[in-house]
Amino acid sequence: MPLVLAVLFVLCHGLALALSPARAPLLSFGFLIAAPLLAAAACLWRGWRHHAALGWHATALAMLLWATGMALNMADVLNAGEANDTPQASLLFYVMYGVPLVFVLARARRERWPISLIDALMAALLGVLFFLHTRHRASAGDAGLDGLRMMFDIQNVCIAAFALLRWASTDLPDRHAFFRVMAMYALAYLLVAGFTNHCAADEPFGLHADLLIDLPFLLLAVLALNAREPAHVVEYPRLRYVVQAGGPMILPLLLLVVAMQVVDHSRHWALAGFVVATLGFGLRSVLLQIELLEQHTALDALSRLDGLTGVANRRQFDAVLHAEWSRACRQGSALSLLLIDIDHFKRFNDTHGHPMGDRCLRKVAEVLHATAARGTELVARYGGEEFGIVLPGASPESACGMGERLRAAVAGIPEGDLPQAVTISVGVACMRPAWPCPLEALLAGADRALYAAKHAGRDRVEMWLEQAPDALADGGLRVP
Ligand code: GH3
Ligand code: MG
Ligand code: MG
Repeated sequence: MPLVLAVLFVLCHGLALALSPARAPLLSFGFLIAAPLLAAAACLWRGWRHHAALGWHATALAMLLWATGMALNMADVLNAGEANDTPQASLLFYVMYGVPLVFVLARARRERWPISLIDALMAALLGVLFFLHTRHRASAGDAGLDGLRMMFDIQNVCIAAFALLRWASTDLPDRHAFFRVMAMYALAYLLVAGFTNHCAADEPFGLHADLLIDLPFLLLAVLALNAREPAHVVEYPRLRYVVQAGGPMILPLLLLVVAMQVVDHSRHWALAGFVVATLGFGLRSVLLQIELLEQHTALDALSRLDGLTGVANRRQFDAVLHAEWSRACRQGSALSLLLIDIDHFKRFNDTHGHPMGDRCLRKVAEVLHATAARGTELVARYGGEEFGIVLPGASPESACGMGERLRAAVAGIPEGDLPQAVTISVGVACMRPAWPCPLEALLAGADRALYAAKHAGRDRVEMWLEQAPDALADGGLRVP
């Protein structure tokens, strides 16, 4: 449907020019203003209905700027009767049309607003400098016109190249769909602008060449209304990393290049360009660095937690146990280890379902943590329905006492919290100051004590006490 309407639009434009040659320039301006307005409406609709809203809204803004430029052009042409001049005000809008586009094309994904604000400032200044330089070149007679065309060529080539690069390197479906539309539109615009600026530059408005100018805008409108997010995006991770990492360079770099061009005729603006490019890039790098450090800290914390229960995970357990064991050996202090296993948990799962089993795991973890974790103690999920607790400095007596408290706390989980009462078996292993033992022996001891607790009927605490090597023949198991 949008495609049919677009074809009708071009037909009406052609028909209007053919039927009313006397008023052709005026009619043509009407269509040339309406085409980008339609594209803007389609982009706004798309941004409202779908993701990548900022990109669509920025594109809509670009279309509005272009339409304003054309409206000012029309006012100037109708007033002066000169069909080929590009007045200053409309020149400004044609140049500014590129600002929102360069902004979204240079922008990395999901940036915080202060960084986006810096980018927007750099993009706006880039537009101003580009305009100053374009105006300066345009004022140089015939050679100026060539310069003007060249400036627009540079703008259009940059936009098309960035759009293609972003399309090829974006992995998220919504942004991929957006950059695909942008790339197709920018290429169409580049071709049409190249043709009208270089091959039909001397023709006034109101001729059939104007129909060509409708095309990129109508293409954008049709694509914006129809664009579907791909189910699967072919990924080029290296390219994505390079574009994402290099993206922040685009705006400051362009700003520096254009500032260098205007230094001869607009010294102060050039200086502003250098300052904003340097400070902007520096400031956004600092903000980005802070954000990355925050993310790193959050990820680091996450990497140590068990996703289901929220207590420490096995990796953190291993690391802490090793650190505490080294310290206990070094300082000659005590160290106790508790391995805890929920009794008949398979039966619990079979009876109440896996989700309820998960809930039970969460509840038990919560109770263990609330009971045992007071200072340097660490409660961790050791495996499926097993938990490990490291008690630095705890004597055998206090470790057994803790095991008992944990057993009683889990057995006392209120009825309403779980569909049935659960119990745990606890294996306690202690390394006394006088008898440092290998870490593996401590773990094996806790495991052996847990096995003994299961064997003895579950819902109980058993202890393995580290012994002198010659006393280990019996496995060193002691019942508290
Ligand atoms: P025992 O008293 O001897 O320990 O018997 P048990 O049934 O508790 O032990 P078993 O090792 O036979 O079963 C452990 C069960 O724990 C089996 C497995 O499905 C369940 N399990 C392990 N991880 C999870 C989990 O993340 N969520 C749920 N819901 N169940 C889990
Ligand atoms: Mg079990
Ligand atoms: Mg188990």
